Amino acid sequence: MRKLLITGTAILLATALGMGVLLAQKVHGPRIDAEKIRDTVKYLSSDELEGRGTGQKGGDAAADWIAAQFKSYGLKPAGAKGSYFQDVPMVGVKTLAQTTFALVPKDGAPVPLKNLDDYVTSNESQSPVGDFDAPIVFLGYGIIAPEYQWDDYKSVDLKGKVALLFVSEPESNDPKFFKGKALTYYGRWTYKYEETARHGAVATLIIHRTDLASYGWDVVRNSWGAERSYLQNDGTPKLQAASWIQLNVAKKLAAMGGLDLDKLYKEAQSRDFKPIELPVKLKAHMASEVRPFTSRNVVAMLEGVKQPGEAVLYTAHYDHFGIDSSRPKGDNLYHGAVDNATGCGILLEIARVWAGTKPAPPRSILFAAVTAEEQGLLGSEYLGKHAAQLPAQPILDLNYDALAPLGIPEEVEVAGAERTTFYPTVEKIAKDYGLAIKPDVHPEAGHYYRSDHFSLSRVGIPSFSISEGMKFQGHDLAWGEAEAKDYVTNHYHKPSDEFHAGWDFQGLAMMASFGYELGAAAVSQTEAIRWLPGDEFEKAQQKMQSKGIDGEALFARRPDLRPVSLDIFVYPQLTRQALIGGTVHAKGDGRRRLVD
Ligand SMILES: [Zn+2]
Repeated sequence: MRKLLITGTAILLATALGMGVLLAQKVHGPRIDAEKIRDTVKYLSSDELEGRGTGQKGGDAAADWIAAQFKSYGLKPAGAKGSYFQDVPMVGVKTLAQTTFALVPKDGAPVPLKNLDDYVTSNESQSPVGDFDAPIVFLGYGIIAPEYQWDDYKSVDLKGKVALLFVSEPESNDPKFFKGKALTYYGRWTYKYEETARHGAVATLIIHRTDLASYGWDVVRNSWGAERSYLQNDGTPKLQAASWIQLNVAKKLAAMGGLDLDKLYKEAQSRDFKPIELPVKLKAHMASEVRPFTSRNVVAMLEGVKQPGEAVLYTAHYDHFGIDSSRPKGDNLYHGAVDNATGCGILLEIARVWAGTKPAPPRSILFAAVTAEEQGLLGSEYLGKHAAQLPAQPILDLNYDALAPLGIPEEVEVAGAERTTFYPTVEKIAKDYGLAIKPDVHPEAGHYYRSDHFSLSRVGIPSFSISEGMKFQGHDLAWGEAEAKDYVTNHYHKPSDEFHAGWDFQGLAMMASFGYELGAAAVSQTEAIRWLPGDEFEKAQQKMQSKGIDGEALFARRPDLRPVSLDIFVYPQLTRQALIGGTVHAKGDGRRRLVD
């Protein structure tokens, strides 16, 4: 008996292998329909929606249309003021040609740098002008990671200064140290800007090295030359100049300070590394065009019958690159069929089936089509940071981003699931579907940090994306790999990511069904889903769950007791019914008592 089935039966889907793939279906409810996914993909990637650009007409039309679908399924609005929308306040910032950078040595003439050739920069603080003339401090990797006893900052004062650092993270083959070859979030450029800004830096120069960044200068130049979108300032520290510099410029800069960049790189590999203030300043004039606008996440809910305050969340981004007016007409509309009309097609189909499922699940189900993923996971970041606005608190996020409609897969990718207590369930359901779980073959590329589920992970919610692997029925692995390579080289983030009439959507239906089953298991699970002990998101989850629970305050009326450690067990999650366990020392006499 498959206890994962909620309402009873399953159908056998005949496969080319002559075996059966179990697709769970509801007796009392609609079934996942591959053709409905096809229709959604075709419509969302059509010329009518103009590439669904963030802050553009097409993006807004897509959001309205998705909301209308949620409504037609009978799902409740989960947005502001009884609507299906969560407003995401954003700002577009374009660095103007009047912007100037110069390296000014203590002695000698200033060296002006050339925008786009020598550096790229963007004013994250979202003000139209910024001027500074500040000393440059070399920070190694600019990482603080207590779990690896790593601190590149030591006691340096970065206030008002310019941070110079390498992208990526200390070299490692040890899985216990920065996850070996795999890239952790500490290696991503987004982390570097966040951490240096938290330390008060006015600007940050990330040294670009193709091998460390895993992409060339042309990619940096293209993506930073145009307008960049940000969430509107929320009070978190922001840099006036978030920048990258070319490797050769960094070498020159080090030499101006009498240092050798290759040697500095070696020194940065050590825990003993200390920041070095160079006898060189960066004199900058930042000129930017700043354009505030509002984009929207589209959110809907199916209310649970037992614990409606908790929910499984499904996400997929609906935005793409829209119309690029700098390109010739006829070749300037980014259709975004695979990326990510496919994920939206799956999200909507899961929503439709859940809406029709009888009886309704014990916990709630939330559906979020998020905006501005292509701008840096911004819609999901806003959703994660403002999860408290949602009518139910997510206990798990299942995300879909860019799935290839190539037929029935024999593999599934669920990278990140293995880091949670939910993994045995994922393994079990994958097995039921005859799907092998494909390991992340390029962990060094840090894919986990490049899609929307990461925005939910970083606020503590166990999250991962569901995708097909490379092996499809009736084809060998090489075929799947060749198809993937063709997509990445010729169509990924290009206008030619278009709908094809010959596409086979059965595999996407299977991925939808698989995700439905995972959700069904999670909504009725009695045990809380957690990050495994020691995981980089474990602390965020504890923090999220302990919000409003102040350990010290609990003992306020017992001045003889002093809590020295608190482990917070919260179940149900995010409720007031928290059980707090830990160790409390009696003040003064050193006697130890345990308090429940
Ligand atoms: Zn994309």
